[in-house]
Amino acid sequence: MRVSQLFAPTLRETPAEAEVISHQLMLRAGFIRKAAGGIYSYLPLAWRVLKKIETIVREEMDAKGGQELSMPIIQPAEMWQETGRWSVYGDEMFRLKDRHNRNFCLGPTHEEMITTIVRGDVRSYRQLPLMLYQIQNKYRDEIRPRFGLMRGREFIMKDLYSFDRDEAGLDESYNKMYDAYTRIFTRCGLTFRAVEADSGAIGGSGSHEFMVIADSGEAAIVYCGDCEYAANVEKAELHPITPDTEEALSLSEKETPGMKSIANVCQYLGINPEKTIKTLAYQTDTGSLVLALVRGDHEVNEIKLLNKVGCLQLNMASEEAIATLIGSQAGYIGPVGLADLKNVTIVADATVMKMHNAVCGANKPDLHYVNVNPDRDFKPAIIADIRLIQASDPCPRCGAPVKTARGIEAGQVFKLFTKYSTSLQATFIDDDGKEKPMVMGCYGVGVSRTMAAAIEQNYDQNGIIWPVPIAPYHAVVVPVSIKDQAQMALAEKIYQELNANGVEAVIDDRNERPGVKFKDADLIGYPLKVTVGPKAVNENLIEVKVRRTGETMYFGPDEYLAGIQ
Ligand code: ATP
Ligand code: MG
Ligand code: MG
Ligand code: MG
Repeated sequence: MRVSQLFAPTLRETPAEAEVISHQLMLRAGFIRKAAGGIYSYLPLAWRVLKKIETIVREEMDAKGGQELSMPIIQPAEMWQETGRWSVYGDEMFRLKDRHNRNFCLGPTHEEMITTIVRGDVRSYRQLPLMLYQIQNKYRDEIRPRFGLMRGREFIMKDLYSFDRDEAGLDESYNKMYDAYTRIFTRCGLTFRAVEADSGAIGGSGSHEFMVIADSGEAAIVYCGDCEYAANVEKAELHPITPDTEEALSLSEKETPGMKSIANVCQYLGINPEKTIKTLAYQTDTGSLVLALVRGDHEVNEIKLLNKVGCLQLNMASEEAIATLIGSQAGYIGPVGLADLKNVTIVADATVMKMHNAVCGANKPDLHYVNVNPDRDFKPAIIADIRLIQASDPCPRCGAPVKTARGIEAGQVFKLFTKYSTSLQATFIDDDGKEKPMVMGCYGVGVSRTMAAAIEQNYDQNGIIWPVPIAPYHAVVVPVSIKDQAQMALAEKIYQELNANGVEAVIDDRNERPGVKFKDADLIGYPLKVTVGPKAVNENLIEVKVRRTGETMYFGPDEYLAGIQ
């Protein structure tokens, strides 16, 4: 590729709307252009990076026996109604109607679709296990699309679904995917950690998130330097449970879930249970459980919000949770037993929200608010006394002090068990002649988010520093003066040789000052810069600069190829 023809329009200025470095650099270096909030075009350089990530993902999925297919992005409402997610998914789902007024959505994920396909065609245990995947655009009308490709509304995801006969089979599929994910992020050249994640309403230890370590990450993670323990803060069980709580928990678990259990929580919290007249439970989009204890009478003026995940920090998750709680009537999941609350970090001074003119709706058994408008009825100012996990907290496994870090969720593996196969009747006949629901797992990699995460982890003040395996090109050849025929001839020769030897190279043949070319090269982040100037022509010294280390090396015309390997 000749840079004179390359469509990579670079910008001098950092666009004002870009808050995080990956967004800034991708705009400046001509990788992406915005169409609407959270919706971007990928320009040629970005597309090359995405294709490389996809290739790595595809190879690792295939290596584990995954079979690639492609499902429709437009999905009919009916299958979502069967699982109940048509209403539960809420505003994050992009919905549309066809000319006959039938409801559809743009797929935010494909459990319903894949399970519907498999239930129609898999009848016998002999057809299992099965691992099917696709790499495709997903659509989520995120409450706050931001950070460029990190949280888009249209984004590229690899999603694989596993179908097994039993839980032992699921464990095997899960482990394969865990392994594949480890290989994927290693091959991408990223520093990451697999952390235990909350598996939401499903329970059990059935999920891991793959976190690319970066200070700008939205997620906080906890890990142990001495043992293998690593979890996201939502999952981390680091909070000492006092005998009192334990008693309260075990007591109430024996009782029927509902108000009695809530009374115990109230007691623990020091809230007068008699005044706690309403309880609400919502499941957030992230699968965490939000429990709200509403004090006062029907005039609701204060909500104590407890998150199953613990309001550990004022982050998207808790803000979103609140928005879901207030804004949605659809998320009700029934009375909460304390069994669901095992991992609650009870924040002494829980998130308190003042609400005005809020009306309490139906009062049994599904309580929720109606006619509440976040901007009209309350200002979503959130006061939270946040207990951040301290680096000195003991590791729950070995007791050594834990460490904390921030991460970007680039992938997640998840045991679904029979959640979808039951609601969609995806059953098979086992070798004992019995009809059983298939045991499922789902596994996602955010391909476009991984590209952004790679930048969040690899940049300096001059621009992007691509890890070699996902760099759009490996090298740029820069003739210092294109008017110097000897330089141009040598640069051209090197450019051809590099490409012929598997080093993907561009030649910057623009009639620009060398400073401009060097700046653009650093901004775009080619791992190697080969400069062909007077030194190369007169002294046979070809300058090769390594973007990451800044190291400069000189090679003779016959040595440089071997030298850069
Ligand atoms: P998050 O917690 O960041 O909202 P998620 O848990 O909702 O993500 P999953 O449903 O687990 O996401 O989807 C699988 C992967 O898809 C995620 O691990 C992430 O890499 C990617 N992903 C999810 N939402 C987005 C988004 N809005 N923009 C870009 N990538 C996304
Ligand atoms: Mg998540
Ligand atoms: Mg999400
Ligand atoms: Mg996830």
